[in-house]
Order: sequence, then structure tokens, then C-alpha cells
Amino acid sequence: MANPKITVIGSNMMDLITNINRMPRSGETIEAPDFDLGFGGKGANQAVAACKTGAEVVMVSRVGDGLFGREVIKNFDSHGIDTEYVKVVENTTSGVAPIFVDQDGNNRILIVKGANAHLKPEAIDQAKDKILNSDFILLQLEIPLETVYYAIEFGAENEIPVILNPAPAADLDFNYVKKASIFVPNETELETISGMPVDSLENIKKAAQSLLTKDLKKIIVTLGEKGSLLVSKEKTELIFAFKVDPKDTTGAGDAFIGSFATFYAESGDIIKAMKLANKYAAFSTLSTGTQKSFYTREEFEKEID
Ligand code: ADP
Repeated sequence: MANPKITVIGSNMMDLITNINRMPRSGETIEAPDFDLGFGGKGANQAVAACKTGAEVVMVSRVGDGLFGREVIKNFDSHGIDTEYVKVVENTTSGVAPIFVDQDGNNRILIVKGANAHLKPEAIDQAKDKILNSDFILLQLEIPLETVYYAIEFGAENEIPVILNPAPAADLDFNYVKKASIFVPNETELETISGMPVDSLENIKKAAQSLLTKDLKKIIVTLGEKGSLLVSKEKTELIFAFKVDPKDTTGAGDAFIGSFATFYAESGDIIKAMKLANKYAAFSTLSTGTQKSFYTREEFEKEID
């Protein structure tokens, strides 16, 4: 069987992770015990998850013209992701996320969009030939909304199914969004977008079902340790999580969506793909870091044998 082909039109970020004892006050300089750099951004993370599970991935993204931009491209290349359309924006910084982690493990995160804000609809026209050759288009909301809408229309016109992860949550125009094939929010995003409570499974179901009235076709809500929920006109089905003892759940959503795209493209069976993606995402919580906590297909198959 040929490998699935997936195009990710989305963000990349460098995570600048500083472990702190406390935040400095204004004007104060203090020492922090530890620092780490990580490759992140929802688009990049999902591209890596799709690639590690066996898809051929084309990334459409923008980086800055400095050190971080070069490293981001090198990282994509090291995974075998097609970077022809990861372009450098002159005189612009790459997207960065300064993250401060305190001793209790609580995060304070700043997002500087940088070059990601320069991913305009023209980028889709430039990459047209490669996008037309893909089984799925994967989208998130860390790039300009006009580009997200343009990509959804492009997918609809060319019959390439679009998986839209509405993260971080934004005020969306459902005239565009309804043309996506699958809408994949987590609980918080569902709460913001539906304007309904998500404090129980019953309410989560109601909130997701309310989106059907906006003509969305299929909704998959990721529910952390509860698993994932499929809602469509035909059915509502909860797929239980794969039980693990998690160490770091950062990036679990990206692991789910990237791997789901591969598994769904392979089988065309949405429930089967959700079960596998639940497992793949659960394994990603067993070690720290984001992309580096994603299993290769080989590691994954060994675990589920
Ligand atoms: P996000 O990272 O966007 O908040 P979720 O927390 O919903 O996303 O997690 C995405 C998926 O990862 C879930 O649907 C589930 O399959 C898996 N997952 C997350 N946390 C756990 C956990 N504690 N145990 C098992 N699976 C988990």
C-alpha cells in the first residue's frame, strides 16, 4: 500500500523552555536553574506525528531569516518532511514560544507569531501542485485566518478532505468552516466555539452536536484521559482512551491529530483511526517534550502487538 500523502498548512515555533524558581519582578534579574530548546508549533507538531506514523508529508509554512528558521527547516528535513514550501521571510523572526515552568510544573507561555503571520493565501497557490497530490489537508489556527479559509475552499473545490483543528480557539466564520470534512477541537476549544458548557460528558456531547446545526459534517472532540468523541448526523460515539500513567501531556492533541490523519488515510475507517490515534497520543504522554515524545511507526507497532 502506498504511503498516505498529507499536506500540513500551518505554524512552526521554537519553544524556549526555562525552568524557574520564581518569575523576576520588573527590573530584577535572577538566575533560573535550567533551559531547553524544543521544536514546536501546532502545524509542525502535527506534521511530525503524521510523518512518524508513515505519511509522506508536505509542509507549507514560514520561518524567519535567523538561526531558528534554519534549525526549524533542518528539523523538518531530519524527519523526511518535504520543505520545498517552508519559505524564509526576510527581516522577520521565526515564531517563538518563551515558556516558563515553575517548580510545581505550571506553565506560563508567550507566543510570538513572527514569520507564521506571513503565511498568506498565496502560499497555497504556490504549493498548489503538491497539495493537489495529497489525500488530506491538515489545518490549525496559528496562521492568519484568511489563509485557513482559503485552504478550506481550496480543499473543497479540489475534493481534498480537510481536517481542521481549531486551536487556539478563535471566532470562526462557519460559511467556510462547514466545508471542512472533520473538525477536531479539544474540550476547551469546543467550549469557546460552541459557547456551551463542557463540564460533563453529556454536556460535551450537546456542545458538539450543536455544531451540527452550523452544518459541520463530522466533529471529533479530544477529551484527554477520557479519550475522543465522534459526533456526526448519523452517530455519537465515545472511544475510550488507552490507559497510561502520563508524565507530560504536552502535545498529546497534536500527536492525536497528526497520527489520526495517517491512520484515517490508510483505512478510511474513522473509528479504527480514532482508536489507533488514542493509543498513539497516549504513548506520547509517557515522556517529556513534544515532537521527541512521538513514537515512530515501528515503536508504535511494537507496543500494540
Ligand atoms: P490537547 O493536548 O489539545 O489538550 P487532549 O488533552 O484532549 O488534547 O489529548 C488528545 C488525546 O491524547 C486524547 O484524545 C487522548 O487520546 C490522548 N490523551 C491525552 N491525555 C491522556 C491521558 N492522560 N491518558 C490517555 N490518553 C490521553
